[in-house]
Parts: sequence; C-alpha cells; structure tokens
Amino acid sequence: MREVRQRDGSLDEALSRAADGGRLTAGECLSAAQDADLLELATAADAVRRRLNPARAVTYVVGRNVNYTNVCWVRCKFCAFYRVPGSDGGYVLPIEAILQKIEEMVEVGGTEVLLQGGLNPSLKIDWFEGLFRAVKQRFAGKTVTLHALSPAEAIYIARISRLTLSETLDRLRATGLDSMPGGGAEILTDRVRREISPYKDTADEWIDCMRVAHGLGIRTTATMMYGSIDTWEDRVEHLMRIRDLQDETGGFTAFIPWSFQPDGTELGGSRAGATDYLRTVAVSRLALDNVPHMQASWVTQGPRVAQIALGYGLDDFGSTMMEENVVSAAGCRFTMPIEELERQIRAAGYGAIRRDTQYKPVPGAEA
Ligand code: SF4
Repeated sequence: MREVRQRDGSLDEALSRAADGGRLTAGECLSAAQDADLLELATAADAVRRRLNPARAVTYVVGRNVNYTNVCWVRCKFCAFYRVPGSDGGYVLPIEAILQKIEEMVEVGGTEVLLQGGLNPSLKIDWFEGLFRAVKQRFAGKTVTLHALSPAEAIYIARISRLTLSETLDRLRATGLDSMPGGGAEILTDRVRREISPYKDTADEWIDCMRVAHGLGIRTTATMMYGSIDTWEDRVEHLMRIRDLQDETGGFTAFIPWSFQPDGTELGGSRAGATDYLRTVAVSRLALDNVPHMQASWVTQGPRVAQIALGYGLDDFGSTMMEENVVSAAGCRFTMPIEELERQIRAAGYGAIRRDTQYKPVPGAEA
C-alpha cells in the first residue's frame, strides 16, 4: 500500500500550473507520483492532453510488428524473446517471408511496419540495406512506412559494420528507413540498466543515438519499461532525460510507457498492476509537456485498462499490430483486430481516427 504522507499546498499549485501549461520540476514530478491522489493526477494530466490534443478523438495506426530475428547475444534479464547465437529456436526471417508479412498488412489497409529484432552478429548493414530496398521496391506507390530498429540495434549494426552511427543511420535512411521506434529505453538510468541489461547500450548511448537520428531528420518515439527494479526516482530521471532531449531536438513524436512482463524471464517477479500504469501514464503526461502524443500499451495492459488510461493523458491507441512476438513470449497475449480497436475507442467516449506513423490522419479512413 502507498505510504500516506503529509502534504502542503505546493503540490496542488504544481498540478494546477501543469494543467495550465506550466512545467513541473523533477522534484514536483516525483512528489506528484508519490503523493497525489490518482484522480488529481488524472484531472491534471487530462488537461495537458486536451491542451496538446484538443479533439475528443483517439488516434491509432494500422500496422504490423515484424521481428526479423530472435537471435541476440545481449541476454537482457527482462527478455523472454531472445535465443543466443547457435542455440535451438533461433531464426532469421528470409527477406521474402518479411515481404509476405508486409503484403498481408497492406491488404488490410495497413501502413506501418514496426521492424525490430535481436542483436544478431550475422546481420550487418548490407542485410538491412537489402531488406529496406526490397520493401520499398515491392511496395512502390503504396504507403508502407518502415518504423524500424531501436537504438540498441542501430548502435550494434554500426559497431559490427565498422561505421559511425551517423553513417549507419544515413545509409539506412537512404535505402528506406522512415522512422525509428524508441524501444530498448527500459529505464534510462545506469543503476537500473546495469542490473537488468548489463550488456546493452548505456542510458547516454540510447540518448545519443536518438540525438543523431533526430539530427538526420529521422523522427522517433520513446518508451519506458517500468515495474522491474525501478523506483519512482528512476522513472522521473528517465522522463527528464526524454524531456531534455526533446527540448534540444523536437524529434520525439510520442511516448509509450509499458510495464515489465515477467513470465519466462531471468528477472522474474510480479507484474505491475493497473493502478501503477495509470499513475505512470499521468505522471508521464505531466512531465513531458513537450512530447505531442502519448500512446497506450493495450498489448501489456489489456484493452479495458487502456480505455481507462484515455482519461489519464493518453491520446493514441497505438498499432493494431496484427502480430506480436516479444511481450507474448513473456506471457502477455492481448491482440485486437481493427474493428475491435475502433469499438474500444468509441466505447470509451472518443472518436477513432486512423493515422500514419507521423500522426497525420489517413485520408478516407476516419471512423
Ligand atoms: S531485449 Fe532486445 S537486446 Fe535484450 S535480449 Fe531481448 S532481444 Fe536482445
């Protein structure tokens, strides 16, 4: 149970300032997270959401996750998806199989391919250049957005291809990379990263990768995986790092908090609950006054909690996905067809608007 603390008027003042468009300090974010009632947080976060996204509508994108390989040497303790190189069950999807998956997405009107995978020592930059060229050639004249490669992947491709990160991203963009997912952020403090993913990029490397991408005109999302060994101090530090970089570059389109899924992972433990999710969504919305959109993680929370979270600062329901292999490996198996996703949005009292990866409405697809 949450500790009940004495509070003075400063938290009320901070929450109403945030609702009116003012900025919270890190200390005020922490105080909001630890001391504010859930409904107070909802009221203030919803005011921020309505200022940034005034329409009583929730956006979503029709897309597909494609996990091109599960081979990964990094062995993050929170991950149930990877297979170490040379072990049974490891795969690399043939390019033709990836094209077929995208074809299926295009057939149902999808536009966004979320392409992510493990850090596979056998896949250097030429493999990705070949894949991206093949996608763009096969779907020429159609809207197929390659939302591909989180910072850990991009950094590793650069390393094993003996290129700088800037050269790597520039070459990938030239062959078809449109935007990047902000995965692998976990919690951007080295204390947490050392414990849960000791061989992965550091917090500074994740931020630097996003800085380079934004500098090249590649827009990205940002995520936060909370609920493992992190404290609220860690989460607030994470939010401040995202906010600082956004002040510098303006390159983040959206922020996506989601909770650690423990099944089958080395870390194990319990799953963070709905209340923690709602509190985390609201504090994120209050802290990130410069990030335009906040995306639901219905795949980890389930559609009911995602619906409730629309009153806590979210304005986007994310992707229809069609296929999900990463958190489902850790015991989380929610999926939703397009019609059901739209129904969930409307049942929560909002209009449903289909968008592209850059959050622009898809003409003719308004529900
Ligand atoms: S989270 Fe990513 S980098 Fe870490 S083990 Fe899983 S696939 Fe590899």
